[in-house]
Amino acid sequence: SRKLSLSSNAIARSSAREALSTAIGKSNFAKTLINQALIDHISEIDHEECEAGDEDSFFVCDMGEVYRSFQTWKQKLPQVHPYYAVKCNTNLEVIKLLAKLGANFDCASKNEIDTILGLGISPDRIVYANPCKTNSFIRHAAKANVNLTTVDNTQELYKLQKFHPEGGILIRIATDDETAQCRLSTKFGCTLDVAINELLPLAHQLGLNVRGVAFHVGSGAKDFDSIYKAIRDSRVIFDTAITYGFNMTVLDIGGGFELETFEESSRMVRSSLETFFPTKFTEEHGIKFIAEPGRFMVSNAFTLAAHIIARRDIDQKFAESENENEPVRAMVYINDGVYGNMNCILFDHQHPQAHVLTHKNKFFYYSDKDVNQSKIENDADEKGMHHFSIWGPTCDGLDCVSSKCALSHDVEVGDWLYFPNLGAYTSAATTSFNGLGGSAHVIYVASEDL
Ligand code: PLP
Repeated sequence: SRKLSLSSNAIARSSAREALSTAIGKSNFAKTLINQALIDHISEIDHEECEAGDEDSFFVCDMGEVYRSFQTWKQKLPQVHPYYAVKCNTNLEVIKLLAKLGANFDCASKNEIDTILGLGISPDRIVYANPCKTNSFIRHAAKANVNLTTVDNTQELYKLQKFHPEGGILIRIATDDETAQCRLSTKFGCTLDVAINELLPLAHQLGLNVRGVAFHVGSGAKDFDSIYKAIRDSRVIFDTAITYGFNMTVLDIGGGFELETFEESSRMVRSSLETFFPTKFTEEHGIKFIAEPGRFMVSNAFTLAAHIIARRDIDQKFAESENENEPVRAMVYINDGVYGNMNCILFDHQHPQAHVLTHKNKFFYYSDKDVNQSKIENDADEKGMHHFSIWGPTCDGLDCVSSKCALSHDVEVGDWLYFPNLGAYTSAATTSFNGLGGSAHVIYVASEDL
């Protein structure tokens, strides 16, 4: 295998890290670190003699990416305190880093609350942001002093009156999330009308503690006008709630943010807040803005490596192809799939991008040559590309990672593929279907001083 001359230990030293990072640029430096981690791990595997499972798929996590995402958030939205949505990726190292950087946490269940409290993080840094909670979980939250939760229906108000009467309540409103990658308002959020004419009067009658409004514009949101509309509606609820005497101090703008579109989405947040929550109003009422970003913080921090365990060639006479010049030449089977870390294909509508990591024991993750290579990989019609369908390891026909993808090499059993940007909604929802799965090994690198 091709070895980089730079050792991991040398890179780990912060002076060496800084010098190299300056010399070759942040992004190349991060790739160099990931490359080294991939090479180190795969080089250690004796593919002929290893124990069953030693060649399982694994992640490389660059904690530097999490750090940079957090810094980007603070730079663009300094007035909005992020509560990381734990459901997105429950990796403890990521949570610990975010806690150290000052993030708070959005928990959806008893287990997520316990995970955060178990790390010694104080309960007042948690929002229990699930509008439909199990009774015993509400009691658990009350006992643990988790005192802020979301509500979008009258039954939930009765439950809170019974089990957590002092707790703070955020009224969760529905948004226009039709174009989001994953819609949430089909399931959660009340209308403005219900908030004003049902929930606020009932909460007042029950003597509950309404403290603000929450919304979510859908995960992977594409239409940022929905942010404007939701903040506008939130202000209407604030005004009405204040007339009831509620102490309205929290506006929770939810998640749905992505690094790629953050310039635009954060601009929309800033301008909408200026319009509907001007400084005079927010200062008068002591209003704090919070958010629940998940994908934004972790998506690009994780790269998945998977091993090709089988290949079935397709008789080209029968090869089905939309473009006859580029038929799928073989089906390749890898040791991760839609029941494992790529469940995001089903649950989160993601399209993981496969790239060749090793072929005939040579590494092809990243080098000057491979930068050009990946340009070619994006162009399925380019000559010299090899077309495959990629399948997961279970016995289910649904377990398809890609029905057609172009790879730079004619990959075989024993080769490895890598899939970048698989940090969000991947490891958090794996199954053990077919006796496969379990939590994947994670190798950590850090392209920043943490
Ligand atoms: N908050 C709530 C209540 C959610 O349901 C979710 C995702 O499902 C999130 C935050 C995180 O969303 P995202 O990862 O799009 O930022």
